[in-house]
Amino acid sequence: MSCESCVDAVQKSLQDVAGVQGVEVDLMAQSVLVKTTLPSTQVQALLESTGRQAILKGMGNSLLRNLGAAVAMMGGTGPVQGVVRFLQVSPDCCLIEGTIDGLEPGPHGLHVHQYGDVTQNCASCGEHFNPTGASHGGPRDPQRHLGDLGNVYADAQGRAVFRMEDEQLKLWDVIGRSLVVDAGEDDLGRGGHPLSKISGNSGERLACGIIARSAGLFQNPKQICTCDGLTMWEERHRPAAGEGRKKPAQPPA
Ligand SMILES: [Zn+2]
Repeated sequence: MSCESCVDAVQKSLQDVAGVQGVEVDLMAQSVLVKTTLPSTQVQALLESTGRQAILKGMGNSLLRNLGAAVAMMGGTGPVQGVVRFLQVSPDCCLIEGTIDGLEPGPHGLHVHQYGDVTQNCASCGEHFNPTGASHGGPRDPQRHLGDLGNVYADAQGRAVFRMEDEQLKLWDVIGRSLVVDAGEDDLGRGGHPLSKISGNSGERLACGIIARSAGLFQNPKQICTCDGLTMWEERHRPAAGEGRKKPAQPPA
């Protein structure tokens, strides 16, 4: 953003959008603070509809900034990949939001697994995180594995965008573990299959990622650079290596 008309354009892009409660644009700091219940990918898409680049620098609750945030970068042996963020917004509420691509359209089980071990891809992540020895269930069931997050739903393009609030899972219990998305629907323990009470019978593990601590809101003021000095702004539309990476930088709008 280079001038007040940019600020206006950015503000307009989020005006009257359902789920957006407030927008503060800071031209000096080159930042936009959005108070919202929308998934961050939708906010980013709205901001980028103005022709500018936007990068998520942090998420948080402005009243309770330090309860913690984490992120899982998910991948596997196939085409499925995603980014899922965890944010403990209060002692009783963990917000989980993300985007997973490359899925078959329809429901897919999503679970926190016991181990943050991806040395054998998702096979080494262990079973669903279950410190209380409960049976498998759905996210709203009082009896469930703590890691049971139910299903996410992929659209016709194979993309699942989701935002859920969980009262049982605590961020500090899952950092260092893993998040896994499965090929099929989680029956939430109600399917009558021998695996229903164990895994929800949700099939093969498609992609997984270690849940790692990340910056919350206002905790990440630095500009992240790769070793060759390109900032995350500059490298966005360039290859990771080789011809084309060293082109002169286009300043961000
Ligand atoms: Zn389970």
